[in-house]
Amino acid sequence: MKIKILVFNPFQVNTYLLINDDNEVVLIDPGCFEQEEKERLKSYLAENNLVLKRVLNTHLHIDHASGNSFLFHQYGIGAEAHQADEFLLDNMKRQAELFGIRKVDDITPLGNYLNDGDRIKVGNIELEVLHVPGHSPGSLTYYSPQNGCIFVGDVLFQGSIGRTDLAQGNHNELISGIRSKLLTLPDETVVFSGHGSKTTIGDEKRRNPYLK
Ligand SMILES: [Zn+2]
Ligand SMILES: [Zn+2]
Repeated sequence: MKIKILVFNPFQVNTYLLINDDNEVVLIDPGCFEQEEKERLKSYLAENNLVLKRVLNTHLHIDHASGNSFLFHQYGIGAEAHQADEFLLDNMKRQAELFGIRKVDDITPLGNYLNDGDRIKVGNIELEVLHVPGHSPGSLTYYSPQNGCIFVGDVLFQGSIGRTDLAQGNHNELISGIRSKLLTLPDETVVFSGHGSKTTIGDEKRRNPYLK
């Protein structure tokens, strides 16, 4: 599995393309917002002969899901997310106002609900779904044991954790979820966050001030 990172939108969201040996792609968090960003994603796929297979959202905050509609219309693929975050889709216009964004694409329905313990397999890409609520109620992380890495959205960052002051956030739930589901992974597991640089489980165990 290869990992390509594209950074999109004013919030600098990391959009992850997981690419298997057959050039198939599992895309995590399409943050493309401007037309130019959508074209950049489309060109990357086309120029590298990649076939988009699944679109996964770590959660449905607008910065991580703003490209859902584009991918639905362009490739006919509905994004997958946890049902507990679906209210955020209905809420997208309000989220946009909150963040000072004027124009929002039409809202397209989710393709599938994902739950804790689900497994996603596309060729040699295999991901385990771990539900870690608190930043949003439906926040999901996607763990690849084979590649020793996990995609965590806004649950965990290098030296920080997700904010919990947005709709249905819960600080204690977030901390206990990180402890029980993420910090129990092997120390060398690489953590790919929704914003900023990557880290490892071991580093966050040792240094993250929120997890002391
Ligand atoms: Zn978020
Ligand atoms: Zn975010």
